Amino acid sequence: MKLLIVEDEPKTGDYLRQGLMEAGFVVDLARNGLDGHHLAMTGDHDLIVLDLMLPDVDGLRILGALRESGSTVPVLFLTARDSVEDRVRGLEQGADDYLVKPFAFAELLARVRTLLRRGKTPAVPDLLRIADLELDLARRRVTRAGRRLNLTAKEFSLLELLARRRGEVLPRSLIASQVWDMNFDSDTNVIDVAIRRLRAKIDEGFEPKLIHTLRGMGYKLEDPAGTP
Ligand code: CA
Repeated sequence: MKLLIVEDEPKTGDYLRQGLMEAGFVVDLARNGLDGHHLAMTGDHDLIVLDLMLPDVDGLRILGALRESGSTVPVLFLTARDSVEDRVRGLEQGADDYLVKPFAFAELLARVRTLLRRGKTPAVPDLLRIADLELDLARRRVTRAGRRLNLTAKEFSLLELLARRRGEVLPRSLIASQVWDMNFDSDTNVIDVAIRRLRAKIDEGFEPKLIHTLRGMGYKLEDPAGTP
């Protein structure tokens, strides 16, 4: 199994290479984005560990180029920026998993092994289904009654949160911290506006209604007919 690490911080790069070699992998290490881009596009790696913050060619650009070329090599990205925004962008660009720095090597190794295992079997689409609403988590696509709905990245994240915790009343404060990575500020109605837009897309013209408002408590996604 051959892995590519793209990491500009010398210490982290050396440490990852050493650890992964000791775990039995063949490892290429690119210490900047340009080399990383070149190796990613021409190499025959089974998996790529990709730092997002690179001084020359940004990790997201490498990822984008890779996916545009049709490559399905599993990509685990590393980010120092613990922001929902970055993670969402990385996953939207087609990364398979991520780790926020600093991380324990044991965790990285576990994720790498999981991704490599997953690559061997035909990909099982990661689907969430509530009534006739379907979320394809891998492709970040939503359909209702078989009809494709166009959601923004934020709307998708919001719907994903509601769908993963279906039937649960989610307070605005929780939605704010999970989807916007911000503390809830009672002066802002950003969540209510986002819910209204999401509702217009997934509930308008469809039955049953799936998004429910619990006055003073929050929102929940639920099929009133009661499919689990
Ligand atoms: Ca870096």
